Amino acid sequence: MKINYLHITRSRLPRLRQAIQLVYLCYSILLGIQFCQFYEWALNSQGVPPVRPAGIEAFLPISALLALKPLFLHGTYDPIHPAGLTLLLAITVSAFFFRKGFCGWVCPVGTVSNVLEKLSRNLHCKRKISPWIKYPLNSVKYLILAFFFYVIFVQMDSKQINSFLFSPYNMTADARMLHFFLSPGKVLLIVLATLFVLSVFIKNFWCRFVCPYGLFLGLFAVLGPVQIQRSKDDCTQCGKCDQNCPGGIHVSNSETIRSCECIGCLECVSSCPTACVKPGISHTYSLPCLLIPIGTISVLLIAWGIAVSTGYWHSQISVEMFTKFYKMMSP
Ligand code: SF4
Ligand code: SF4
Ligand code: SF4
Repeated sequence: MKINYLHITRSRLPRLRQAIQLVYLCYSILLGIQFCQFYEWALNSQGVPPVRPAGIEAFLPISALLALKPLFLHGTYDPIHPAGLTLLLAITVSAFFFRKGFCGWVCPVGTVSNVLEKLSRNLHCKRKISPWIKYPLNSVKYLILAFFFYVIFVQMDSKQINSFLFSPYNMTADARMLHFFLSPGKVLLIVLATLFVLSVFIKNFWCRFVCPYGLFLGLFAVLGPVQIQRSKDDCTQCGKCDQNCPGGIHVSNSETIRSCECIGCLECVSSCPTACVKPGISHTYSLPCLLIPIGTISVLLIAWGIAVSTGYWHSQISVEMFTKFYKMMSP
């Protein structure tokens, strides 16, 4: 008997996704707690220093984007936040091969966004947005990403990039982010409250309309080999796939979903009563559903393993240097 280890009942996909998202959310919270302990130790320098969790650099995507330029131009790997750069590269590779599985299955911000979406569904307060609002809103993330690309890849030369990467500002970016969220100012609170309200009324507001990181990954996913395929012969036009798609994609309108909004969450697959939506390379070559989450997580783990064993995971800044700069920036 042939056993397909990548097979799972379609109805179990949402539960599996929630479980994986929960694991990564808990892991992110754990990273945050470990970093707080390291930061507190650095300010007081008492007792044995706890390990600085390098994974916290996943939350410094702008620093990682800046580090791409010296990597491509001179082959130099960022020694300040190497884990951040490793994760950006790994997530981009995974997006090319396995759609935006990172967004659909791993990213903790995406998880929170999904929770808000479920909340809005249960409260029946989800609103449809008209194309007049949708298209200008959609352009926001393109403008943000274009701005970053223009500044980093056009305006800043290698010298300016290096001065930023080696500046005390960048070295303490993790601690600044911690302060930013632990002692939020009025502006941040207003922004967060606005995003919360918008996310309750508009499906996945942050991920669909604002996040430039998701768009960056989407541009690679569009070029990749794996897409969501719909067989129109078996489709009854029930519309369940459209209702459940967190990316707001009209799945029932297309035969191949090539949108950069598709996060590979497989909600369309699990909700389709006729099983006519599947991931695949073409209509004739469908793939096991689990390939998207397993492929995505495998790329992340492989990249982590290679980076740790080759010395490209932990920062080359010494604990003493971190301590010195954290003390300098501490309010
Ligand atoms: S769009 Fe951005 S915030 Fe949303 S899941 Fe993707 S990377 Fe995370
Ligand atoms: S098209 Fe399917 S896999 Fe893609 S975001 Fe929508 S529901 Fe998820
Ligand atoms: S859920 Fe399946 S049958 Fe219903 S509209 Fe979507 S693809 Fe067609």
